[in-house]
Amino acid sequence: MNTQQISERADAIRQRIERAAARTGRAGSEVGILPITKGHAPGVVSAVAEAGFEAVGENRVAEADRKRTALGDVDVRWHMVGHLQRNKAGSALRVFDRIDSVDSVRLGRRLQLEAERADVSLVPVLVQVNAAAEEQKSGLDPAQVVEVVGRLAELSRIQVRGLMTMAPYTGDEAVLRQAFSTTRECLARCQKELRGLVGRELSMGMSNDFEIAVEEGSTQVRLGTVLLGERPEVRWI
Ligand SMILES: *Cc1c(COP(=O)(O)O)cnc(C)c1O
Repeated sequence: MNTQQISERADAIRQRIERAAARTGRAGSEVGILPITKGHAPGVVSAVAEAGFEAVGENRVAEADRKRTALGDVDVRWHMVGHLQRNKAGSALRVFDRIDSVDSVRLGRRLQLEAERADVSLVPVLVQVNAAAEEQKSGLDPAQVVEVVGRLAELSRIQVRGLMTMAPYTGDEAVLRQAFSTTRECLARCQKELRGLVGRELSMGMSNDFEIAVEEGSTQVRLGTVLLGERPEVRWI
């Protein structure tokens, strides 16, 4: 996928976002696209950056680290969207500009500690919600979100920019909508009870469900396949 192909796909996707946003009286410009480059070769990250995107998402520390090294100084920010183990918090801070998948106070504390060690003054994060309480998925139970976000917000170097969720893998629109609206309501509760301590980002929606996510209030859709094509069978690493 080259820069021009990515730009063309991005235009079509933006139109779909516009229409979905308009259905609930929002502007499409309120919704950003985070291209998810996991599994793709480093050249895809350069093409994405040339197509005008400012950030990409990756779900493994080692893979993103090797891409950054391979690319040198490509002008793009890196978001961690996969599960982060505490023992990789230090390397994650070196590689990523934002951690979109914080799912515990313990991970937050570890990031705080590593930030102190590395003299990183601020770590922007999103807190991941397991909105449909799926056993195999990481993320917080919706009932825990306000408490955990409150405790994370006490950490001086952690800045909670909002929430992230992955909806269940299903074509059932009602189930998807429920997962997104639950997450939106969690953010609303955080904002009410933790005034000023949490941002407004709602990272919701992937290739198969992003229009529903936008209708339910998403401010950032995370798009792999629909933007960049199928991931290669042999993952780049
Ligand atoms: C892979 C991935 C995506 C993108 O998936 P597509 O279905 O290819 O759009 C989004 N979010 C996360 C957390 C992912 O791991």
